[in-house]
Amino acid sequence: MIYQIPINQIYEHIYINFKYQNKMNTKKVKAYGTEAPDAILEQLDINRREITLKDVEIDILYCGVCHSDLHFARNDWGFTVYPVVPGHEIVGKVIRVGDGVSKFKAGDVVAVGCLVDSCRSCNNCKNDLEQYCPEWVGTYGGQDKHLNSPTYGGYSESIVVDEHFVLNIPENLDLAGVAPVLCAGITTWSPLRHWHVGKGTKVAVVGLGGLGHMAIKLANALGADVTLLSRSPNKKQDALDLGAHQMVISTDEEQMAAVQNHFDLIIDTVPYAHDINPYVGALSTNGTLVIVGYLGPLDPMLNSVPMVMGRKNVAGSLIGGIAETQELLDFCGKHDITSDIEIIKIQDINQAYERMLKSDVHYRFVIDMASLKK
Ligand code: NAP
Ligand code: ZN
Ligand code: ZN
Repeated sequence: MIYQIPINQIYEHIYINFKYQNKMNTKKVKAYGTEAPDAILEQLDINRREITLKDVEIDILYCGVCHSDLHFARNDWGFTVYPVVPGHEIVGKVIRVGDGVSKFKAGDVVAVGCLVDSCRSCNNCKNDLEQYCPEWVGTYGGQDKHLNSPTYGGYSESIVVDEHFVLNIPENLDLAGVAPVLCAGITTWSPLRHWHVGKGTKVAVVGLGGLGHMAIKLANALGADVTLLSRSPNKKQDALDLGAHQMVISTDEEQMAAVQNHFDLIIDTVPYAHDINPYVGALSTNGTLVIVGYLGPLDPMLNSVPMVMGRKNVAGSLIGGIAETQELLDFCGKHDITSDIEIIKIQDINQAYERMLKSDVHYRFVIDMASLKK
């Protein structure tokens, strides 16, 4: 027997699609992005959806430059769909809101981080862990559920986001300096909170870049004893100024031997494959090495001996949920914490990427998006 779909269902399907597509108007906005892994970033046009009931339309003022932007633009992780418009450390001014929006109004200064949607009904969503929702939508490289097309990030004039994923910024914080809190900040805050870092916890941070410098500031503000593990001896004074209590040169075997079995928590921000075994050795019993930087198979392999012999843990962590990001913004407001930044024009983004590859960032580039309007 041939199964036949009732004709009224087919009509209904066509009608809904027709109505939906007709209803969902788009607006063309200027952006900066790339069409291929080996191409530079250039100006291009993208479509933003018109606001729906719960949407907030934001005029972007500043956008931080994360190493993930570079990984994604160059297809380091192998799943980039082009064109790409990176940027997930967004600060901007609300220009319009949908009729059902209750948290924001035109004129508010707000923030958007790495997430712009999720299913809202799975256990992770219900537990404020939207970043682990199987249907989470990244600010760029995700799938806009309204337009059924890729999401584009903050290297653009404006963005439209459901109010659930829009955050409040404490009034005392510098707007450009707060942008990196939305990714570099929350990515290190989430493990600090999950592993209950507080007064006297021995925390080490591997790599002094965007994530690393926020990790030092936040761990210090939580009362931890903070150590930077870095391959760059010239960063020592900066590390101390940021709030680290000491620095260990990670390539110096003697210095590493002196911190064996020492740390309660190590946050590893290094973006590329590297040997994590010396860091596992530096963990105390029950200590945890949490990888937030590198994505992929470990090389060299992980040796289980120090883990088994010392009940040591190796873990990973992805950004943070919306409630946790708001908690961090409020904490930053209370402790007057922002990122140490270098403001650039959007036209300088390709040089910024080259400098980021050489670890020559002090300690986050933030794009003044007014440069895109000129
Ligand atoms: P960044 O500003 O470029 O800093 C990375 C730091 O790692 C460098 O400053 C450097 O510090 C160290 N490093 C060691 N080996 C390196 C190498 N071969 N090349 C470059 N740097 C090296 O990067 P970021 O923005 O902090 O991001 C760090 C990583 O976290 C990236 O892979 C990014 O994709 C990832 N990330 C993950 C999440 C998440 O949710 N898990 C969120 C955001 C970003 P020293 O000179 O001190 O050694
Ligand atoms: Zn990021
Ligand atoms: Zn979900």
